[in-house]
Amino acid sequence: MGKLHGSLKVLGLSKKILLVVNIRPDRRNELAEFAECRWCRKKLDGKPYYMGGRAYDPVTRKQANVNFYGGFVCSRECDYRASLDLEQTMPGHGSGQTRPGSFAMQRIKENWGV
Ligand SMILES: [Zn+2]
Repeated sequence: MGKLHGSLKVLGLSKKILLVVNIRPDRRNELAEFAECRWCRKKLDGKPYYMGGRAYDPVTRKQANVNFYGGFVCSRECDYRASLDLEQTMPGHGSGQTRPGSFAMQRIKENWGV
């Protein structure tokens, strides 16, 4: 009896975690099993971003940078496009926006030095 109650509790918990993951706008309802670039989906070494920790480029072994809005990015181009893509869907920004806002641009500069 106690054992059954225990496994039901675990089931309820994992359901909750899946729910949290699914409402993230950049996940588009898919549950990644590995770390990947938020924009181009290039596979990286490490756990998915939402699980915490770091990710590394499988070839260069360089630590992946993190986008201003969260998620690993493999290049400045991917960092830039991921921020712009998200901001274009945000209130007060809009689809006509042609470059990321100043806070996202500052993070890109810190990440890539340009
Ligand atoms: Zn990328």
